[in-house]
Amino acid sequence: MTRIADALQIERQAALRAFNTFGLSATAHALVHIRDEADVQSVVNHPELGRLPKLILGGGSNIILTRDPAAVVLRVEVPGRALVEQRDDAFIIEAGAGENWHDLVAWTLAQGWPGLENLALIPGTVGAAPIQNIGAYGVELAQRFESLDAVDLMTGRKVTLNARACSFGYRDSVFKHDLRGKSVITRVRLKLPRPWRPVLGYFDLERRMAESGNTAPDAQTIFDWVCSIRRAKLPDPQKIGNVGSFFKNPVVTEDQCRDIIARDPRVVHYALADGSFKLAAGWLIDACGWKGKTIGHAGVYEQHALVLVNRGGASGAEVLTLARAIQESVYGRFGIRLEPEPLMI
Ligand SMILES: Cc1cc2nc3c(=O)[nH]c(=O)nc-3n(C[C@H](O)[C@H](O)[C@H](O)COP(=O)(O)OP(=O)(O)OC[C@H]3O[C@@H](n4cnc5c(N)ncnc54)[C@H](O)[C@@H]3O)c2cc1C
Repeated sequence: MTRIADALQIERQAALRAFNTFGLSATAHALVHIRDEADVQSVVNHPELGRLPKLILGGGSNIILTRDPAAVVLRVEVPGRALVEQRDDAFIIEAGAGENWHDLVAWTLAQGWPGLENLALIPGTVGAAPIQNIGAYGVELAQRFESLDAVDLMTGRKVTLNARACSFGYRDSVFKHDLRGKSVITRVRLKLPRPWRPVLGYFDLERRMAESGNTAPDAQTIFDWVCSIRRAKLPDPQKIGNVGSFFKNPVVTEDQCRDIIARDPRVVHYALADGSFKLAAGWLIDACGWKGKTIGHAGVYEQHALVLVNRGGASGAEVLTLARAIQESVYGRFGIRLEPEPLMI
């Protein structure tokens, strides 16, 4: 590791395997540890690194490295969390982009500021949470979002963006479009509503309520339920490499949905408020017979067809081959193109 200027930490030929939860081997020709906004600005102004392309990396839980990145890797490690404002309608907390998301959720609960419990146990960093507007068990980040700070990778200028500027959608935001790869998010502010109200409409949570007889769970109970449901359903990336859901649930028009139901009336679908329909991608993949299948060392998780896993020593090429084969068979049977959720490098 070399230190240049004001302690900018640069690693050369850095192994990335430990930095992505699928456990894919790749090497960064240069990896810079980003501890604050000044580090991003130092990279922008750096005589060598400044003009090279950049890849922003958080916890690596939504990234598939199919090759060595042709870019300088900026690993975001900005620390810190604090209550910054106490309003009548909300607690406003601020967290550094490098903080672990789940630890932040647990910390807010321990402080007596509930509101994030449905988003427990989502791997990754705080700074990546706005990128795809993380969501689970009936809550999306957008519903708890106040604003964020980011540094522009061309100019080094710091900006603050509110929810409107982030254009959040289903697993989507401006950071997947106009600002894709262009800004490093350094801090995120969240608003935790007062008074707190539980979000319990999700099927698995309703079942927990029925099983436990607890129809008015507090935030800690919801947190515990979400953690135990997730542990039972999803592979632990520490033990089996994965990136959670590999494909987005496709959103289709009413006509398209009717066409798919005609192909198979059992298709799992949900009506959305705008008249479109969301299809369960896991169901489509399962219906094509993929659950438990393996190509090379990459496979489809036995308990959840939407999750691709590393069976040990998988290469990026094997993951790509498996993902493409799944896309082709789902398209062939249902006429639907599945879109990968993680960033594919
Ligand atoms: C077991 C498992 C379960 C999961 N469950 C869910 C779930 O329920 N809901 C859900 O929404 N997601 C889920 N995910 C996906 C993943 O946890 C989230 O997308 C998470 O927000 C990714 O965080 P990360 O720090 O690992 O991001 P990374 O994988 O490092 O990066 C993801 C993307 O964000 C960009 N990025 C990262 N940090 C920054 C930053 N500071 N500034 C700008 N760009 C940045 C990267 O360039 C990349 O495009 C799951 C993943 C796993 C492995």
